[in-house]
Amino acid sequence: MDRTTAGFDQLARFWLNDSPARGVVARLDESIMRALRDHDYPAPVRTVLREMAGAAVLLASNLKQPATIVLQAQGDGDVPLFCVEATQALSFRAYANVRESARISADATLPQMLDRNNNGRVVLTIDPDVGQMYQSIVALEYASVAENLQSYLTNSQQTDTRLWLREDGEALEACLLERLPEHASVEDSRAWDNVVALMEATFAQPFMPFPYSEWLNFTFASEDVRLHPAQAVSFSCPCSIDRVHNALKLVGAEELMPIADETGTIETRCEFCGQRYSVDRATLASLFAESSANAAPGTRTLQ
Ligand SMILES: [Zn+2]
Repeated sequence: MDRTTAGFDQLARFWLNDSPARGVVARLDESIMRALRDHDYPAPVRTVLREMAGAAVLLASNLKQPATIVLQAQGDGDVPLFCVEATQALSFRAYANVRESARISADATLPQMLDRNNNGRVVLTIDPDVGQMYQSIVALEYASVAENLQSYLTNSQQTDTRLWLREDGEALEACLLERLPEHASVEDSRAWDNVVALMEATFAQPFMPFPYSEWLNFTFASEDVRLHPAQAVSFSCPCSIDRVHNALKLVGAEELMPIADETGTIETRCEFCGQRYSVDRATLASLFAESSANAAPGTRTLQ
């Protein structure tokens, strides 16, 4: 079975008819390969980004309104930033800031890459298209992406939640299980523990190229597994020349005009997708003229 088989680059919700659990499962195949294609990251950096992308897509699928999840691991090590963004529409992008001097061993863990002085942290931001941004920060305590996010979810969710991630060096599979809150009896607890143990056993196995519609039935062999229709997961980078113009305006004329005077253009590159943008001196000057006109008192148009 190759990677183009149906079921790849998809996300689906499922529930178990006889146990107090529901879940969401996703496979990132071509999408994650595309997201990392134009980056020359060391293998352990790619692994962390794959895992963070899988987790971010699962979290984004739970959003109740159009929004973007920004999941970052921040520290002061050889890789001071890992960043993944995923939207409610299940598109995502990813990048890492790898220092030029970085020496990353083939088996480096997330804390070893991120953290020099034990102050690594995981920052989760929910940025709605409309409304207030929400951010939470937890200390980086564990070696793996899954354990750190698991700890975050356990502390922030009202109900038992478990997260699993596994990858094969190219693709990634992610699963989030949630205990149904209204099922709180001792018997329900036992059933929940059983469901968790079954999923644990599946994710202890190496990544297998089977669609989850097959392995879910295999994992919960004695259960009635119900799957909602799958949704496509894709790589997408929303960068644009307009966003570049806005970013340059924030940097300011004082810093940029001398560079433009000397070189004729300002060159920038999208950190996520590698797209290069070039803004010439005349365009830059008109951007700053426009923003200072807008800022000057008495020149605003009345709305
Ligand atoms: Zn881009």
